[in-house]
Amino acid sequence: MSDRSLTRAEAEGRAALLTVDRYDLEVDLRGLLEGERWSSVATISFQCHEPGASTFVDAAGVVRRATLNGVALDPAEVAEGRLPLRDLAADNVLVVAMDTDETADGQGILRTVDTDGLVYVWSSFEPDEARRAWACFDQPDLKAPHAFTVHAPTAWTVTSCTAPDSVVDAEDGGRTWRFADTPPLSTYVVVVNAGPFHEIRAQRDGYDLGLYSRQSIRAVLERDAEDLFRVTAQGLAFFGERFGSPFPQARYDQVFVPNLGGAMENWGCVTYGDGILPRSEPTPDDRSWVAVFVLHEMAHMWFGDLVTMRWWDDLWLNEAFASFASTWAMANATEFTDAWATFLIAEKLVAYDEDMSPATHPIRSEVPDVAHATANFDGITYYKGQAVLRQLVEYVGEPAFVAGLQAYFARHAYANTVLADLVGAVAEASGRDLDAWTVDWLDRTGADTLSLGGGELVGTAPDGGLPRPHRLDVGCFSWSGDRLERLARVPVELSGDRVAVTLPQADLHLLNDGDLTYAAVRTDPASTRTLLASAGALPDALSRAVAVGTAWDLLVRGEAAATDVAGCLLDVLEKEDSPAVVEPFLDRAFALVERWLPSAAQPEVRARLADVAARVAERPGLRGSALRTVAGAAAGDAHRALLDAAASDDTDLAWRLLARRAELGEPVDDAVAALLDRDPDPEARFRALAVRASAPAEAGKAEAWTALLVDREVPAGGAVREVSSRFWRPGQQELLLPWAHRWFDQVAAMPPGGLLSTMSLVRMTYPPIGDDAVLARAREAAAADGVPAPVRSMLVMGADRLARMLRARSA
Ligand SMILES: [Zn+2]
Repeated sequence: MSDRSLTRAEAEGRAALLTVDRYDLEVDLRGLLEGERWSSVATISFQCHEPGASTFVDAAGVVRRATLNGVALDPAEVAEGRLPLRDLAADNVLVVAMDTDETADGQGILRTVDTDGLVYVWSSFEPDEARRAWACFDQPDLKAPHAFTVHAPTAWTVTSCTAPDSVVDAEDGGRTWRFADTPPLSTYVVVVNAGPFHEIRAQRDGYDLGLYSRQSIRAVLERDAEDLFRVTAQGLAFFGERFGSPFPQARYDQVFVPNLGGAMENWGCVTYGDGILPRSEPTPDDRSWVAVFVLHEMAHMWFGDLVTMRWWDDLWLNEAFASFASTWAMANATEFTDAWATFLIAEKLVAYDEDMSPATHPIRSEVPDVAHATANFDGITYYKGQAVLRQLVEYVGEPAFVAGLQAYFARHAYANTVLADLVGAVAEASGRDLDAWTVDWLDRTGADTLSLGGGELVGTAPDGGLPRPHRLDVGCFSWSGDRLERLARVPVELSGDRVAVTLPQADLHLLNDGDLTYAAVRTDPASTRTLLASAGALPDALSRAVAVGTAWDLLVRGEAAATDVAGCLLDVLEKEDSPAVVEPFLDRAFALVERWLPSAAQPEVRARLADVAARVAERPGLRGSALRTVAGAAAGDAHRALLDAAASDDTDLAWRLLARRAELGEPVDDAVAALLDRDPDPEARFRALAVRASAPAEAGKAEAWTALLVDREVPAGGAVREVSSRFWRPGQQELLLPWAHRWFDQVAAMPPGGLLSTMSLVRMTYPPIGDDAVLARAREAAAADGVPAPVRSMLVMGADRLARMLRARSA
């Protein structure tokens, strides 16, 4: 029998009835060294405000025994993951002993046997998986202190939310770890990880910082430890100051674990999928990506953990806020000062893309039960949400925003809130009424279009109503030698559908300079020509990113030819020196060549891109970033020589070069075997798989297909993306068309479990190649019966994107 999903009404009823005083959790991991058994005894002390009433506790495992106030309960009464509790007293003590052997699928718990035979275990409970690990009232607004006692094999290290108070040998084998009480926390932000971790600690500004990884990548953790400690300390200082309250606990651990998709903001003990740590020398973009993760999860310590949404309908806000805060901290407190430019090219353009598809949805929506909590985890939730919060900061001014935040955290620490609490605090601090603003930005879909012409800025909305209120800047640039210089940045506020703007005469009026608002922008025709031809002459990374973003929007809406947009990107790359955008620009240029250009234009533009990237590689600090693109686009002997030289001490580049060689039909089996031998990365075999998948041959395609979509053994995240992108090579259309048809059959047959991982798999492996028949199949698949709604929305977005790519290619 499957476990029932808690409804909103049930959660409200239980929250009104109960106050949880504390959880004392005894967890036994000794059954995981050789087997699959996770055991727990939960002792829950709680009050009932209507003595005599009934409720239930969540217990989605095998309940061995249970007592309520000393009276035995019948484990046979557990149904659909719930144990009924009847005739409650005012003060109650519930004890539930529970086991689970389901530790292999990552639903709450994952046990991994590494390539060296060592065993690691992590837990990750959002939104309602804590009930699989121990009995609990698994909803965000029943917060309580948690105290953990963990029995683990002797050689293991255990990490949890707080520092261990004691570690002693257990009489019946192994060791027993006792952790200090947590503050009152929601059930989904606590954690127990264990294994023979490599541990590095440092003291920074009064914080006791810890880093952990599995032994097989300890060299990688050692290499990046200083970077990680630095950005962690910078983030703790920045957030502590801006939020008006320092993180209240000295201990802050970060644990890098195998095969976790993304990361999880457990209080004081963040877990990350260790795929985010690059296995070769990191590029600036790799380092920036890790820093964003660190700061995103850290922002959740305040926004999510300290103050928590009452119900999952505000989960979007939790994520949008953490994403906003991470870029805000990057730009203000770290070396990554161009982080807003990175955000625009690498992430915000994804939000625009999804927001123009028929599967778009408002940022906020109803969440009737927990099963729907993560249904909208996509670019709209994270990146549009982040962009809208950035617009809010501009709309009220940063000082008022900060004052509102500080009041919010002070008022609601260790409690739960709804969106109106945050909006109200910011409105109060700024003196601006935000009610209409909130409805406009959160409940309407699509991006407004803002057009400049005839002395006016005119806004239109995709739903035919008035555009949203926008606060933006227009940058005015004129030629000075071969550079475009900013003469002025003119602030504009649009409320209603038009506003008069007085701009100085200029060669380029860049609409949304500084990227403050979320909109499709159309500047005047002369400026558009300058923007497409000469964006590289703009003076800073963010203005160049706004130009590229504008050009990209013209491409995807069919208003500019792919060759013109390629010209814009190549012009920027010829001069680009900001490490924050070089790799995002190169990636976008490469995607443009592979997916959007008419095939007749591909060879020439691909070769030009490889040439430009080879020149970028000469610039200080950009070599690693640029050589990745050279490897993907390599067209001739000169590129090959450059790569051969560089790949001898860079395994990442060596894999990329091998993939390119395989794609071109060269035999690479011996080289793959040799590289596997010298690459210490425990996941190297998936890179070998990706190389074989690149070859224009059925065998490699079939092997990758099985690993990716049938056995699903490719680790979530970057490895899936890599294998998939090697599989779908644009020059192999004839070979791949039958596979594209097969992909839709495969997805239709996927088991429904593990929705988040299915969504991400569908998104990352969606066929980017096709013809009219594939497109018809794509539309049919998106409309088929029986597809879970979130997967359907990935299918609709994929079909819409494919249609736009095919249109651009045939232009
Ligand atoms: Zn998050």
